[in-house]
Amino acid sequence: MSDWLSNAEGPIFCVQKHEARHLHYDFRLQVGEVLRSWSVPRGPSYHPGDRRLAIPTEDHPMEYATFEGVIEEGEYGAGTVMLWDIGFYSNLLENPVEVALEEGHLKVFLRGKKMIGGWALVRFRKSEDLWLLIKEKDDYADSRYDLIGELPNSVLTDRSMAKIRSALKTGNP
Ligand code: MN
Repeated sequence: MSDWLSNAEGPIFCVQKHEARHLHYDFRLQVGEVLRSWSVPRGPSYHPGDRRLAIPTEDHPMEYATFEGVIEEGEYGAGTVMLWDIGFYSNLLENPVEVALEEGHLKVFLRGKKMIGGWALVRFRKSEDLWLLIKEKDDYADSRYDLIGELPNSVLTDRSMAKIRSALKTGNP
């Protein structure tokens, strides 16, 4: 996976399923040399009618993009982390991504294993820095497909959250 990262053919995105105090999906986009990040409690959806709350969180270093495992109690992000999806993205707007982020309206085309097609990230309440992750109406949109439910496992190892969690306890990688 780290080889994959160094051979990347463009900016990457990833989604980490994270069971901390509450289960959420960390959606991350490479911007420059960091991963800009949003926590999406209900995860992404292929249904353009679903407006999924996305709360900005700390930038993460690029190396974190392929992390999967258990973060110990007392550490930042303590809990179980699964690499749920990873791939490349392209910017669908004329504005550079940095400007679009500043303006609170991003439109990207994702080429992941699970998330494919156009998605918008829109800041709807500037005072609280709250965003929405919304599927664009394109050929990939599907209002009946339950993305989160159908594809629950790791894109890296195909493990479930429980398997990742128990690997730590047994000492297996
Ligand atoms: Mn998280």
